Amino acid sequence: MSTPVDPREQDEAVRYWCPVVWTGMVGAGDGEPAGVLRDVLVSVVGGVITEVRAGVGRAPVDAVRLGGVTVPGLANVHSHAFHRALRGRTQRGRGSFWTWRDRMYAAAERLDPESYLALARAVYAEMALAGITTVGEFHYLHHGPGGKPYDDPNVMGAALVAAAADAGIRIALLDTCYLAGGIGPDGRPVPLDGPQLRFSDGDAEGWAARVGEFRPQGTHVVVGGAVHSVRAVPADQLRVVARAGSLTDLLHVHLSEQRAENEACRAAYGRTPTELLAEHGLLGPGTTLVHATHTTDSDLDLVQQLRAGVCLCPTTERDLADGIGPSTRLDGRNRGRAGADRPALTLGSDSHAVIDLFEEARAVELDERLRTEARGHFSPEALLHAATVAGQAALASPAGMIAPGRAADLVTVGTGNVRLAGAESTDPVAALVFGATAADVRHVVVAGRQVVKDGQHLLVDDVAGELDRAIRPVLP
Ligand SMILES: [Zn+2]
Repeated sequence: MSTPVDPREQDEAVRYWCPVVWTGMVGAGDGEPAGVLRDVLVSVVGGVITEVRAGVGRAPVDAVRLGGVTVPGLANVHSHAFHRALRGRTQRGRGSFWTWRDRMYAAAERLDPESYLALARAVYAEMALAGITTVGEFHYLHHGPGGKPYDDPNVMGAALVAAAADAGIRIALLDTCYLAGGIGPDGRPVPLDGPQLRFSDGDAEGWAARVGEFRPQGTHVVVGGAVHSVRAVPADQLRVVARAGSLTDLLHVHLSEQRAENEACRAAYGRTPTELLAEHGLLGPGTTLVHATHTTDSDLDLVQQLRAGVCLCPTTERDLADGIGPSTRLDGRNRGRAGADRPALTLGSDSHAVIDLFEEARAVELDERLRTEARGHFSPEALLHAATVAGQAALASPAGMIAPGRAADLVTVGTGNVRLAGAESTDPVAALVFGATAADVRHVVVAGRQVVKDGQHLLVDDVAGELDRAIRPVLP
């Protein structure tokens, strides 16, 4: 298997012809919705877009035709690959986030480097088929049973990086610091137990030292840091994380997904989780706060002041009955702010109850409609921007808008199906956001190279079969 950006292909020139493109632009359009171009020739050299020319009436003979509506590569900002094994296993009946978590630990207990690679490769191939060109993998299953390090202490992270290469997508490996089982009633950290022992490096210095040794190969990977949550990283250790150099330039954190976390944090520290992170220097432009469901208005003021981003995972949040995220409260703080200063809203499939970024995107608007009994909170372009351009930025990816100088990540949604027939001639962006599913993705190009063609993965022959074979051994 070659990586998405094979050095042998660096100078290769390729042209794609697309009947309809949405470039990733948000804002006032000129007749058409913002950013929509017709009859577009996208030229690519060495994996980078060199020209985007609209109004090219006929596809040149040497161009690869991408029939449908083409948008920038989707970014799945928050993923735990192995949670895919729980799909259909945890949805029935009552239970809670906390009972779901016990099932997840049971799955974690059974994985080793080989089975982790097989499962992640199949899951990332499923993501590629869904149009995802970059995954943010929030990775905390570091060590062997009982917490015993493997000979290579980064072998589990290396498995994820190899899995992404096999599946032809980019990965931001967010190596996660995870030290405690929670905040106890006395305010002290709860010791880790059972499968949780596999997550811990002992202390934040141990975490930073291990990750510092990890130098994965490939242009498809970047390594960042993550704080699992304020439940799992005590305050004195947050201070150590903040000193971990480049790991904090790209830092993701689970935040206020559950009210219980807020209550325990206030009881122990007299602060909300957001305030605790800010106090320890962990909120900045490179920070993405995942969920942020139960944040206060003053928490969101802090997020805005310090220019952190927020990643919502609506299909997981509704599956776990977490609550509805703060999308409109955050967006209200964005109004009137220039692009680079706006705290970004991004999207992830987290537990992979489904892997469908179109579903995540429309959920942001539709959940608000149910909550407020009013429509029109977000434009379709803003929602698709969250799923594409903003998400790629939150993962430090070179992909983004379909524009010269950006990496050539293109996703084409077919319109020759019953759900999207007519979309090209009406409002293609709204049709995709409110009508498309992951199964409608026809073509995926990563760094200029086609990974999915006509709905078929070109690097992994039988994605469904690989998923089935990988999931069976880890069924809890
Ligand atoms: Zn998560």
